[in-house]
Amino acid sequence: MCGIVGYIGNQQAYPILIKGLQRLEYRGYDSAGVALITDSNDMVVYKTKGKVSDLEDFVQSKDVSGTVGIAHTRWATHGEPNNVNAHPHYSQSENLALIHNGIIENYAILKEDLMKRGYTFKSNTDTEVLVQLIEYVKVSNNTDIFHAVQLALTQVIGAYAIAVLERNNPNCIVAARKSSPLVVGIGDDEFFLGSDASPIIEYTNRVIYIDDDEVVRLERGKEPRITNLNNVEKPHQIMELEMSLSELEKGGYQHFMLKEIFEQAKTVRECMRGRINIDRNTVAMSGIIDNKEKFMNARRIIIVACGTSWHAGLIGEYLIEEFARIPVEVEYASEFRYRNPVLNKDDIVIAISQSGETADTLAAIELAHNQGVFVYGICNVIGSSIARNTDSGSYTHAGPEIGVASTKAFTAQVTVLSLIALTIAKEKGTLSKELFESYVTELSSIPDKMEETLGVSSYIEKFSGIFTYAKNFIYLGRGYNYPVALEGALKLKEISYIHAEGYPAAEMKHGPIALIDSEMPVVVIAPNKGMYEKVVSNIQEIKARKGRVVAIITKGDTAIKGMADYYIEIPETCECFVPLLAALPLQLMAYYIAVVKGCNVDQPRNLAKSVTVE
Ligand code: GLU
Repeated sequence: MCGIVGYIGNQQAYPILIKGLQRLEYRGYDSAGVALITDSNDMVVYKTKGKVSDLEDFVQSKDVSGTVGIAHTRWATHGEPNNVNAHPHYSQSENLALIHNGIIENYAILKEDLMKRGYTFKSNTDTEVLVQLIEYVKVSNNTDIFHAVQLALTQVIGAYAIAVLERNNPNCIVAARKSSPLVVGIGDDEFFLGSDASPIIEYTNRVIYIDDDEVVRLERGKEPRITNLNNVEKPHQIMELEMSLSELEKGGYQHFMLKEIFEQAKTVRECMRGRINIDRNTVAMSGIIDNKEKFMNARRIIIVACGTSWHAGLIGEYLIEEFARIPVEVEYASEFRYRNPVLNKDDIVIAISQSGETADTLAAIELAHNQGVFVYGICNVIGSSIARNTDSGSYTHAGPEIGVASTKAFTAQVTVLSLIALTIAKEKGTLSKELFESYVTELSSIPDKMEETLGVSSYIEKFSGIFTYAKNFIYLGRGYNYPVALEGALKLKEISYIHAEGYPAAEMKHGPIALIDSEMPVVVIAPNKGMYEKVVSNIQEIKARKGRVVAIITKGDTAIKGMADYYIEIPETCECFVPLLAALPLQLMAYYIAVVKGCNVDQPRNLAKSVTVE
């Protein structure tokens, strides 16, 4: 959360910084700000509550010249979203300006200490402590800004990606990271900084991913200098990215979320490319094959994830247990990391995160590593912290996901988990040849079936308007579709602000049934597989209490059609892959309800993507 951008070079910095903030706005939109050293060698800070567009209005008729600057879009953790708490923050003398993504956990102690030394604070943020501390260290050690940042950060506990600008030093930006992402872009005589590569890719595809506890100096006419906090030089590798600009734009859709929903046939195809061979009926996930022994001998797999990725993990549990016969547990990373779990050397932890930067998931990985456990990562963002901090893993190859509510990343995660389960099953021989081949064939047909499923979009658009009255929704599913019910409910909550609960359908009678009346919409995922008859009975129970049923059914099902108030048909597929199809109408429903309600679909209130704070 929070987006940070920086530029130093020969071009005007402001337009590059603003465009960068727009690309990073999915990470936070409570406030936005920029610090520049203008052409008249003056350091200026402009910042305001609200979105990047509010900042653009705010700087009208102000001096935004200059070829060096840093900028920030905030997702508030400490202090309400207002003008004063917006970044950049000045130091006491206003000689330094700093932007920050993360949380400084020992900010209170540091602040108290600095106040005793005469420092005064304007904001309620933890961030302001950092900039004051760096100034204090710089002055008291009579040192330069690079060394001051190194020294100051040795006193700091918490997570940060920071960038600092110094009034009298227009030739240099200093940045550092710990547990929050930071990327440097290398252009021709120019450098870029970003929380991810999206603000950079328009100008250069050559990047350096800064590691934890590293400080970087970007100076005109010089190579980037990267050290640890003890001033020891750190070798760095320049990577070439293959991201295209069109992936970062809406491409004619009204919202990123809608574009990303419609991309799913393509992204799932992309995710399977080179991993599934339909002619030979084979599946091979290289990360699994490379670590075959580990997976063959695994006594247990523990999946750690948060939010939508956790729902994908639940589907992974069903897939791996059914196909590969390895016991699986699925844990919220935030709980796992703090509850002293019992881990054994022959366990495997699978960590799932779209951004690859989720703070809790990274901490869960660290915990597993500290206990000697092999960790496999599943993430979308190439070069992200999870990709770099795991022993092996698979990318989901869904392309940049900008809409805050995750859609295509979810189906790509489920696809990767299906491929993993099939690869292990093949190696272990836990599926018969016929069954294995039928799954491979069926999985390969999913992208075509997704395209077909998306054909229901205009129908969903029409009936979704009816439900804007609703204050609550229930989502029900069984087996593989229980996690889909959870995910459908989460989508609705996230973007339309309607309270929704996902339940295993059979649990309804243990409580939620009390909520059902003629006002209560109940979405039931009811394919003609698995416990079909039992789900039909659940629908009868809802109808008997006058609930309004929206059913997701298999094409051709006539029984449920007759009972449901609304039905959405999905193509026939085997039970284990229904989630890959059933998720799509639920995403569309959440989307259209939110649109009719006038909600900001791509930037829902209080949320942000890439949850780099605890
Ligand atoms: N803790 C800082 C603030 O509240 C940065 C927040 C973040 O990175 O999410 O301003």
